[in-house]
Amino acid sequence: MSTAIERATRPAAGEPLIRLRGVTKMYGSGQAALMALRGVDIDINAGEFVAIMGPSGSGKSTAMNIIGCLDTPTAGEYLFQGMHVEQLSRDQRALLRRRYLGFVFQGFNLLARTSAQENVELPLLYRGESAAARHALASRALASVGLAGWEHHTPAELSGGQQQRVAIARAIVTEPAVLLADEPTGNLDTQRSREIMELLSRLNIDHGITVLMVTHEHDMAMYAKRLVHFVDGMLDSDVGNPHPLGPDFLAALPPAATGGP
Ligand code: ADP
Repeated sequence: MSTAIERATRPAAGEPLIRLRGVTKMYGSGQAALMALRGVDIDINAGEFVAIMGPSGSGKSTAMNIIGCLDTPTAGEYLFQGMHVEQLSRDQRALLRRRYLGFVFQGFNLLARTSAQENVELPLLYRGESAAARHALASRALASVGLAGWEHHTPAELSGGQQQRVAIARAIVTEPAVLLADEPTGNLDTQRSREIMELLSRLNIDHGITVLMVTHEHDMAMYAKRLVHFVDGMLDSDVGNPHPLGPDFLAALPPAATGGP
C-alpha cells in the first residue's frame, strides 16, 4: 500500500479527490460519549475551492482533521484518490499527508528564531531532499507568495500577513494536491485577510491546488467556489458560489477602496 501511495498520480481537474461516506466520529465512551460527526457524505473534486462554515462545535475541525489524515473516523469511509484512508496504518497516513497535503493554520505555526527560508525548507528536509534542492524550491515558493528578498527574516521580523505567507509557502513547497486551511485569516486584519484570500485563490486558479478552508468569516468564504455548512456534526447545506471573488478583486477596485485595512 505504501508504494501505491508513493506511485499514485495527481488527479486532473474535476476528477474525484476526496470522498467521505457515512463518516461518524465519537469522542469518549459511555455516558460521556460525544458524537462530533453524525454521518457525513461529501465529494470534493480536484481543483475545487471549498469554504467550510458553521457554528462553533459543529464538527468542522473534526472533519478537517479526518480529511487531513490527522485523525480517523469511528465509522464510515474516507477515500482519497480512490484509496481507503480509513484502512491505512498510521505510517501510511503520514506518508499520504507528506505526499499530498499542505496545512495552513490560524496561528501560522512557524518555528521562531528560524528564518523564513529554513521554515519553508523543513517539509523538504523530512522528504529527504538535498540541500541544493531544498534551497531552490523554498526560494521559489517564497517568491510565489511575494516574499522574495525576505528569506532571511525570522517570524518576529515579519508582519502577521507575511508570516501567513511564509506558512503558505511552507504548505505548497511540496506541491500538494490539497491545501487544508483552518481559519487562515483568523489572526489578520481585513486588508491582510483579503491578500491571503487572493493568494489562496491564485494558488487554486493558477496552480490547480484544491483548497479546503474552514472559516467563520462570510467575506472570506466568498472567495471559495463552493460553500459547505456544518450544523450538529452534519452537512446542513452545500451550495456553489456563483460569483467567487478572485485574485484580481482588489486590483479591480478604485484605489481609495484598497487603501486602508
Ligand atoms: P468546530 O470545529 O466546528 O468548532 P469541532 O470539530 O472542534 O467543531 O468539535 C465538534 C464537537 O466535538 C464539539 O462538541 C467538541 O467539543 C468535540 N470535540 C472535538 N475534539 C474533541 C476531543 N479531542 N475530545 C472530545 N471532544 C472533542
